[in-house]
Amino acid sequence: MPRDFLPVCRPGLPAAEDLLPYLRQIDAARHYTNRGPLARLLEQRLAQTLGLPAHGLRTASNGTSAIEIAIMAAAGPAKPDRPFALVPSYTFAATALAAERLGYIPIFADVRPDTWALDMDLAATHPRLHQIGLILPVAPYGRPPDLAGAEALAARTGIPVVLDAAAGFEQLLGRPNLHSPNLHGPILHSPNLHSPNLHGPGLISPTVPMTISFHATKTFSTGEGGAVIWDNAAGQERVVRAANFGFNYSRRSESAGTNAKLSEFHAAVGLAMLDSFPQRRTDYARTVAAWRKASATLPGRMHLPPDLASVYILWEAPDAASLITAQDALTDADIDTRRWYEAGLHVQPHFAAPRQTTLPVTEDLGARLLGLPMAHDMDQKDMARTVKTIQTALFAQASLQMQT
Ligand SMILES: *Cc1c(COP(=O)(O)O)cnc(C)c1O
Repeated sequence: MPRDFLPVCRPGLPAAEDLLPYLRQIDAARHYTNRGPLARLLEQRLAQTLGLPAHGLRTASNGTSAIEIAIMAAAGPAKPDRPFALVPSYTFAATALAAERLGYIPIFADVRPDTWALDMDLAATHPRLHQIGLILPVAPYGRPPDLAGAEALAARTGIPVVLDAAAGFEQLLGRPNLHSPNLHGPILHSPNLHSPNLHGPGLISPTVPMTISFHATKTFSTGEGGAVIWDNAAGQERVVRAANFGFNYSRRSESAGTNAKLSEFHAAVGLAMLDSFPQRRTDYARTVAAWRKASATLPGRMHLPPDLASVYILWEAPDAASLITAQDALTDADIDTRRWYEAGLHVQPHFAAPRQTTLPVTEDLGARLLGLPMAHDMDQKDMARTVKTIQTALFAQASLQMQT
């Protein structure tokens, strides 16, 4: 990697010395996985921090397996008369792959130009609704999940809905300017929470499980990890069972299952990350403010946190040609960029044939939304360099067009 290479994403997880107290607890307990003490503590502290009831959050080994176990618990595997899962095309591959793992055949729907999320009205009137056994809306880039819309869709169609809000951790926390004691002072260590702590906004549904990812590239991370958020105690018992081979207090597989358990080592990372998360939010707020200022003169439109998860800075190019021009120039300048969801799943080789369709909004967003470099400690000089590179490239493109 060249010395001045600027990565699109540069995660920062807890340092070794911050993990050590938790690792020592693992040494003492000799309990390494299977919802051990640290995984349970992480669930309790997260539920408290996010203002969820005690049963509201169950951990998983990653965000993709969180979707899978939520599907197992809420819908079960695909049934012959309803083999399809309706998935928005503008998402990460994991959403559709999770449905496939449960035997569903994904069919892709377009998204709304304003929210970039599944159009709930189109979904509710889909021509193949009678063959659809699962609907998987997505909150892209950690934008606000339309949980009420998802609940209404489930009620209207009678079809189980699971919402993939992989990058939505901060939406659960609420806006940084919302007064919430947990975000400012140290987060309470409270291993025995008996009652829900209602400090947070409490973004949770009794009917629609919502999943999040704790991958290293997400705002809150355990390295690999995830969670199911669901205000349904019996449903969460099925989630826990599904994550542990379908076992129900026995070694008998009683329902669909897999191994989706968060190890104690990953839970240790999460606990240490939670300890320092108020500081991380402050760092992000400062970096986002600097990005907002640095990008004010770019043509097109910037999409910045807190409308997105803090790990994303998205530039919406005025047109597809400008995006290509800018992306090429940035690559030449050793500045990494990413079209995070490419041109949608419906055109990716694994999903495309034989169900090829055209989805104009997804294709337009895919061609114009470009992820720019972001990190909680990103240097302002690197923001300026990125913006300058785009401006220079677009200026050169415009003058070339004038000459011809
Ligand atoms: C990150 C992400 C996932 C997958 O999460 P993992 O923890 O990497 O398995 C799924 N869906 C979306 C929209 C994501 O952004």
